[in-house]
Amino acid sequence: MCGIIGVVQRRGEVASFLHQALKRLEYRGYDSVGVTTISNGQLHMKKDKGRIEEVHKKLNLDEIPGCIGIGHTRWATHGIPSMYNAHPHFDCKNEIAVVHNGVIDNFLELRKELKSKGHEFSSDTDTEVIPHMIEDYVSEGLTLDNAVTEVTRRIEGTYAIVAMTSRDDGKIVCTRDGNPLVIGRREGATYVSSDIPAFLPMTNDMILLLDGEVATLTAGGAEIRKLSDGSEVERETIKVSWTADQAQKGGFPHFMLKEIHEQPEAVRNTLRIRPEVIQEAAKFIHEARNVYFLAMGTSGHAAMAGRHMFASLAGVLPIFELASDFPDTVYNSLSKDDLVIAITQSGETTDTIMAVKHAKSFGVKVVAITNVIGSSITRMADHSIFTQAGPEIGVAATKTFMVQLTALAQLALALGELTGFVDNEMLEKKRQSLEKLPEIVSEVISRNEEKARRLAGLLYDKPSLLFLGRGVSQATAEEGALKLKEISYNHAEAYSAGQSKHGPIALVHDEYPVIFVVPRDETRWRIVGNIMEMKARGASIISVIAKDDEELKGFSNHWFTIPEGIEPEFSTIPYVIPLQLFSYYMARRKGFDPDKPRNLAKSVTVL
Ligand code: GLU
Repeated sequence: MCGIIGVVQRRGEVASFLHQALKRLEYRGYDSVGVTTISNGQLHMKKDKGRIEEVHKKLNLDEIPGCIGIGHTRWATHGIPSMYNAHPHFDCKNEIAVVHNGVIDNFLELRKELKSKGHEFSSDTDTEVIPHMIEDYVSEGLTLDNAVTEVTRRIEGTYAIVAMTSRDDGKIVCTRDGNPLVIGRREGATYVSSDIPAFLPMTNDMILLLDGEVATLTAGGAEIRKLSDGSEVERETIKVSWTADQAQKGGFPHFMLKEIHEQPEAVRNTLRIRPEVIQEAAKFIHEARNVYFLAMGTSGHAAMAGRHMFASLAGVLPIFELASDFPDTVYNSLSKDDLVIAITQSGETTDTIMAVKHAKSFGVKVVAITNVIGSSITRMADHSIFTQAGPEIGVAATKTFMVQLTALAQLALALGELTGFVDNEMLEKKRQSLEKLPEIVSEVISRNEEKARRLAGLLYDKPSLLFLGRGVSQATAEEGALKLKEISYNHAEAYSAGQSKHGPIALVHDEYPVIFVVPRDETRWRIVGNIMEMKARGASIISVIAKDDEELKGFSNHWFTIPEGIEPEFSTIPYVIPLQLFSYYMARRKGFDPDKPRNLAKSVTVL
């Protein structure tokens, strides 16, 4: 995910508009920033690593000449955050500038091909193949829009692309497939951006651009064509009634809710991580003596679920340790044959970094799973898997948990292939179930959001709630309890349902809320026993269950339902969603800001 802006206007400088527009897009990415304009038949460029205001202080983004320009605020997927990897990217002659959001899956082969034709690359990004390909088509005599159209026939992946050339300082060409772009219009100026707030202070008139379309923007308007046959598309202008702040949150009242709703897309993108990256990590695990999962907070719950996936699909049971306690637990028992899998959303979690340092001092190998390319953990790791959630602004992790689980599921399958613990047919069945995830995740959200809101209205003043699950669902229960504590400040405790009768049951009295996570797996019949025990003591039972589990509906006071189709090992992915929504609406009901829980920060960089 990253933020793109482009503007072409009849007169006046665009520099400070580009700068301010990028600031409104900064929530989409903030590891580097760049702008390019055209003036006097030449491209002018400023870009660097860092947040927009840091780069502005250094380079003065308000001073760059021209009435046409493009800009980008990056969230790296290919190539570390650095000046040379920052967008825009250029062709060999510095005549074509391109910004891109997304991932070009086949960039390696395209890059090789372009290099063999003599193109010189100045970045490690997947994006840079695009300006070089445009350069070739333009030198064959194609116009910029036709060149961009031809490029879309060669690239595979997801993209929003905006391009311009110094040979024609009156137009910007843009296209998309899988990543957003919207066009803004007003007299004498046309805009294109990843999101509406970027141009909202200038205009409320918006024109949609759809996947598979290419648009040519001039100061006088936008001409949209279909990529498939070049036919012209008539598209009406829509009046947007949002304020800039509302629009930035995509119309959602909070980033947390927006990010919950972004989960299908985040999962879809993470399922597209290149198989070689996952296979390489699986090889590390396969060759190791002891495998440790190190993580904290929500990432720790992903690790707990990951253990079950590895055990069930690959016959490998990693040891899960809280990173904060790891050095004091393992002492000197580590060896260079061991492996640590460090999971950290930000890649900067100090507890995890310190634990990895401790492990490395014994020669232990490290695989990192993180959402931030170029983060500290990736510089320490022997191999990294980058999850594809895009930036998460809400402090309470939601979509980054989803993508950690999705990456671990893929890793468990790749490891299963290496160990041969279950047969190929079974692995294939599991793999296919993963493919359905984006749809299922989106159905779970729509099915349960209103229920979560209503339940929050009933339970918001309960001082304490218990979350129970068995097997992999204990991880789900733990995450549900953590979300609630974090943002609504109700006391919440998660336990293995098996353990619940060894103490926690003493807490239960009339209408004490107990939340059970009960997918249709082999733990189900035992957990039914635990539900009965709680019911017998007057507990109010809230269950997260399969869609048609009529029996459990009969035992529950309230329930959330999950469509079938996901294999039991992966059940945390859909089953945690109603609990995320529940905690969000609990916080709202109590008047707290779910995006900014007290005493917490997005990434914990203290010990
Ligand atoms: N893949 C491109 C890069 O790493 C674009 C990233 C994005 O969309 O955030 O530069």
